[in-house]
Amino acid sequence: MKTVSHWINGSLSTDKAAQVGEIFNPATGKISGTVNFADLATVNKAVQVASSAFDSWRHSSLTKRTQVLFAFRELVNKNKEKIAELITAEHGKVLSDAQGEVTRGLEVVEFACGIPHLLKGGFSEEVSTGVDVYSIRQPLGPVAIISPFNFPAMVPMWFFPIAIACGNTVIIKPSEKDPSAIMFIANLLKEAGLPDGVFNVVHGDKVAVDALLTHPGIKSISFVGSTSIAKYVYENGTKAGKRVQALGGAKNHMIVLPDADLELAADAAINAGFGSAGERCMAISAIIAVEPIADKLIEKIKIRALKIKTGDGTTNADMGPLVTKVHRDKVASYINAGEKDGATVVVDGRNVEMAGDGFWLGPTLFDHVKPDMSIYLEEIFGPVLSVIRVKTYDEALKLVNDHQYGNGTAIFTNDGGAARRFQNEVEVGMVGINVPIPVPMAYFSFGGWKNSLFGDSHAHGTEGVHFFTRGKVVTSRWLDPSHGGINLGFPQNT
Ligand code: NAD
Repeated sequence: MKTVSHWINGSLSTDKAAQVGEIFNPATGKISGTVNFADLATVNKAVQVASSAFDSWRHSSLTKRTQVLFAFRELVNKNKEKIAELITAEHGKVLSDAQGEVTRGLEVVEFACGIPHLLKGGFSEEVSTGVDVYSIRQPLGPVAIISPFNFPAMVPMWFFPIAIACGNTVIIKPSEKDPSAIMFIANLLKEAGLPDGVFNVVHGDKVAVDALLTHPGIKSISFVGSTSIAKYVYENGTKAGKRVQALGGAKNHMIVLPDADLELAADAAINAGFGSAGERCMAISAIIAVEPIADKLIEKIKIRALKIKTGDGTTNADMGPLVTKVHRDKVASYINAGEKDGATVVVDGRNVEMAGDGFWLGPTLFDHVKPDMSIYLEEIFGPVLSVIRVKTYDEALKLVNDHQYGNGTAIFTNDGGAARRFQNEVEVGMVGINVPIPVPMAYFSFGGWKNSLFGDSHAHGTEGVHFFTRGKVVTSRWLDPSHGGINLGFPQNT
């Protein structure tokens, strides 16, 4: 049984923990280790280390920072499989999904390697006689990143490569459910030449989060998790005077118009609904079928869903278990509620037969879901797809826009005009056109609207650089003796 401890000042903390959490292998249901929870003293120590490291890291040259990031990129690439194995062992997702997550994280590292270009300021010459104005962006100081269980490598990588590239120091509080991947990454950063204290990890729960939210040494909070905690983090972080970006939950809709390619739409629904067992903030969980295609579409999704092989993520399964027993039972309780509320269970994931005590649930497909049912209103975060039937595009659009979440959405159609209208009218932060999971590339920014994001700054891309720096504008006048200024004793040009 392993013990996962904090990473402070470039090494593992040996402090004894007053409280620990259990880590499970979701495929076996067995405990594989424990994770130390940070108390106030541990968080204070991490902040103090990050503050001291900031004094020199902020003055490191852009060349030095990019050298570290390029070396880190190579190391992550080389160790992609090892990181994926750690993710699968604690999260449960299949290895190919885990590797995909590392690849998406690497794209942000590659983006951050371009920091010399990204930090270039503006310059206006001669705004008044002899006066120039220019803007620069400077780091904030120690910044905190609080991440969820569902992408234990990728979500931290949305933030820390850019934060570090901008000259900040970092404290990460990963999910206590799958804390090992980020520890491996911490070692790689050290191997890449990152000075000790620039990147730190404290584990734990609310105690550690609250300590980070209120510590005056922490300058910003980047949070990703469920909406209720995102709101809490946003309100308390901003109250303590910090800048906060808090990404919350989701209920992503996929609209299928009557002219869509139904084979493509059914494939997309399967991948986006059941990939990573639906534990993705960009998973599709509601399909809005615009009649008359619902019967045909549901049949195609059903055939595919019945073929999905649920199993241990280290085998050749399509879909792994859910992350914990509590979460598995919560998702199953939503299926019970949907059935009780009158939705039709087309494919029932509760029937999946698996050996052992893993946290299993197969894919579930609901038809005839109504907008007032809890399976539609709330985020389930599991392998459950709900189909709602409507008669028109306008009805479909209204459903998406009336929903409390606005993270991602997709439309499937062959009509360019309809797609263009949708991208303009839909109240959601990330939109796919015949693309079910429209996760922006690292050089664009990731974030939703409404209850899917608190704050005004999305993750990575130029918004990420903006978030991790403060702007400064310098207005400067240098007196030039050759142009009739004060004679400072320099030789005159004649
Ligand atoms: P969660 O909200 O339970 O936990 C997120 C983080 O908050 C963890 O580090 C956790 O330890 C901490 N936390 C939990 N309870 C807390 C409390 N009471 N006070 C302070 N901190 C607390 O989320 P999760 O279950 O780990 O992740 C799943 C959620 O994350 C889903 O809602 C999903 O939609 C969301 N998510 C959103 C995005 C996005 O980009 N919008 C991306 C990934 C996941």
